[in-house]
Amino acid sequence: MSGALNYKEILTRHGFSFSKGLGQNFLTNPAIPARIAEGCGADADTFVLEVGPGAGILTRELGLRAARVTALEIDERLLPVLSETLADLPNCEVVLEDVLKADIPALVAAKAKGRRAVAAANLPYYITSPALARLIDSGCFDAVTVMVQKEVAHRLAAKPGSADYGAFSVYVQYHGVPRILFDVPAGCFTPRPKVDSAVLRIDLDAPRVHTRSETRFFEVVKAGFAMRRKTLRNCITSAFGSRLPSEDILSAFAEAEIDPARRAETLSLEDFARLSDALDMRLRKE
Ligand code: SAM
Repeated sequence: MSGALNYKEILTRHGFSFSKGLGQNFLTNPAIPARIAEGCGADADTFVLEVGPGAGILTRELGLRAARVTALEIDERLLPVLSETLADLPNCEVVLEDVLKADIPALVAAKAKGRRAVAAANLPYYITSPALARLIDSGCFDAVTVMVQKEVAHRLAAKPGSADYGAFSVYVQYHGVPRILFDVPAGCFTPRPKVDSAVLRIDLDAPRVHTRSETRFFEVVKAGFAMRRKTLRNCITSAFGSRLPSEDILSAFAEAEIDPARRAETLSLEDFARLSDALDMRLRKE
């Protein structure tokens, strides 16, 4: 039944109209959901949490490979459509919930029943970063595979020294290893978005660098990238200058062996960790 489903006909029959506000650009090229489902690591022992099933084109491909799929959808108008498109896949379940509000750890514990869990989604553009952060922060998944705007995917996978590397790249790479699986042209969706997309898989693990304080680490990363054209010394002084005298800030740079004239985009995770530890020690003494 999978390849034979005519999603356009089903959506029209249900009187469905696309909502731009909900980021509803549905996949129409059937090869793409199959490749996402293959690439996300779903197999017969895996539970998959999907975000935003839409008409179910990716959900079906996940359901054909995984032990169980739970899909969170915010738009109740899609429920009758999904009942029809997923009718022959009893291992697929749709839950009417906002991914930004759902208790993901509780949901995964209840549905995965001890199985290895992965997440997969063609994410709505308007919540790419918070939705991705919620999936990563939940600590539930071995891997998260998402389709996002191509430029966002390249930013998240960017290495230090490139113009694309920023605070969100550091966040993602602190928690895992991102890899772009493939690009998806805008013509593969209805309605057609303005930009191309890419599928990014992030294999999640324990934090990839050790720090005295994760909160401080991300405070330093955020401060470093807050003014991209300024030197690190400027950025760090602007964020911490009211709490630390400048000689302490300079001695933290020296201890971390980081030239304060560098820019944040040149720092590796290890560099950020050393700088954050040196600043943290001094801030705690104040
Ligand atoms: N997976 C489908 C596909 O690939 O054709 C649809 C993807 S479409 C880009 C995004 C989907 O996410 C839509 O079905 C939309 O209604 C749903 N959505 C939007 N905001 C959401 C939210 N906060 N929580 C859960 N689903 C959401």
